[in-house]
Amino acid sequence: MQEHLKVDVWGGAGEHGRSCYRVESEELSILLDCGGKKEYGGIYPQIVPEQVRSLNSVFLSHAHEDHMAALPLLLQYGYTGDIWLTKETHRQLPAYARAWQSYVMSQGMKMPYEATDWEKLHYRFIDDEAQEDGWVSIMPELRLSFGPSGHLPGSIWLLLELEGSLVFYSGDYSSESTLLQATMPDQSLLNGRKIDVAIIDAAYGDAAEEQSFHVTQLLNKLDVVYKRGGHVLLPVPLIGRGLDLIVEINEQHPKLPIAAEINLINEWERLMQWSISNQWLRSDSLSKLDDALSKVRHIAGEVDRRLILEGEPYIILSTDGMMLAEPARSYGKWLSDNSKHAIVFTGHLSEDAHMFTGEGCEFVSYRYKVHQGLPDVQRMVLELQPLQVLLVHANVDKTERLIKHLTNLGYNKVHDQLLQQCSS
Ligand SMILES: [Zn+2]
Ligand SMILES: [Zn+2]
Repeated sequence: MQEHLKVDVWGGAGEHGRSCYRVESEELSILLDCGGKKEYGGIYPQIVPEQVRSLNSVFLSHAHEDHMAALPLLLQYGYTGDIWLTKETHRQLPAYARAWQSYVMSQGMKMPYEATDWEKLHYRFIDDEAQEDGWVSIMPELRLSFGPSGHLPGSIWLLLELEGSLVFYSGDYSSESTLLQATMPDQSLLNGRKIDVAIIDAAYGDAAEEQSFHVTQLLNKLDVVYKRGGHVLLPVPLIGRGLDLIVEINEQHPKLPIAAEINLINEWERLMQWSISNQWLRSDSLSKLDDALSKVRHIAGEVDRRLILEGEPYIILSTDGMMLAEPARSYGKWLSDNSKHAIVFTGHLSEDAHMFTGEGCEFVSYRYKVHQGLPDVQRMVLELQPLQVLLVHANVDKTERLIKHLTNLGYNKVHDQLLQQCSS
């Protein structure tokens, strides 16, 4: 790394959760994300209070709790500056703030800040201030560029220029979403210069599978359950992969009937508004989504739910992704009576979700990629050619296996010094 540039990991490298990176150049310092970790009722980044006051700016990549839940703590340590984020991320913040709070309370722990502190933070919208050359000027000697990271509507990668040094942060990144678009910094932004350090999402460690492998497995399972006369419940988060899944089912197995809870349908229809789809979806997504949505049966309330469950088999999408809340729990109870039905998870599962899986129907879990594994990290490093790489978002074992793989492939600039620092 350039001598005048320093990255401090306050959380998020060598672990899954509490993403928080402080970047310092000679005269400036900034913070990338400030999240929580869902363990022991909430773990927060290792914030260095005396360094918070001198931060010039704070940037938020997206609205997930593992990137934002500790932001109000910055107020307590005297940060009075701006939090830069996209408008779409800002829209999602209150829901994720409530989700974090209910997680903390459910574990019998206390919140380390007041719920009203969220309103005391100063938000600035990155997407309102981008110039034609692709840069957003934050202050003299500090500017940034950004683009969609394909992880969630509103989620972004960031390219920061601090006193002439370039830092890339992928945020949570996936180039494999069916509908969400993901870009990379344009070469014109680099203008022949090298990126000094790249902080890269490597949440799946050295996992080598591409998205299509997982999707094929998942769709085959849906087909098998449907043919044996069973319902499939797909528990999904309100914002995120559900949208991709209905399009994949509709395109690859058009005969499988899909039903979805009305809150999901409302969210999908909202994304189809031009101002939102234009910024976050791929160019061909609208027609795909339109076609899939026209075939989805709406479930609005208890009566609809019962009618579906007592009728012909359906693929049913319902919140939430871990089946910890209604209406997914009710579906789970109903379906668990009969072994022909299946509950198919596609995301991260907590211990509480596992407790539910001992009962009558089939429980299976497939990955739907919203982060990066080996081939994805490899592509990113190859394209960006950064001088140093910091791999983040996975535990130490997974990260080290990935570093080993990359080193064998000839990437010798992958940096694990910072990783050791934070896992000690
Ligand atoms: Zn995320
Ligand atoms: Zn994350």
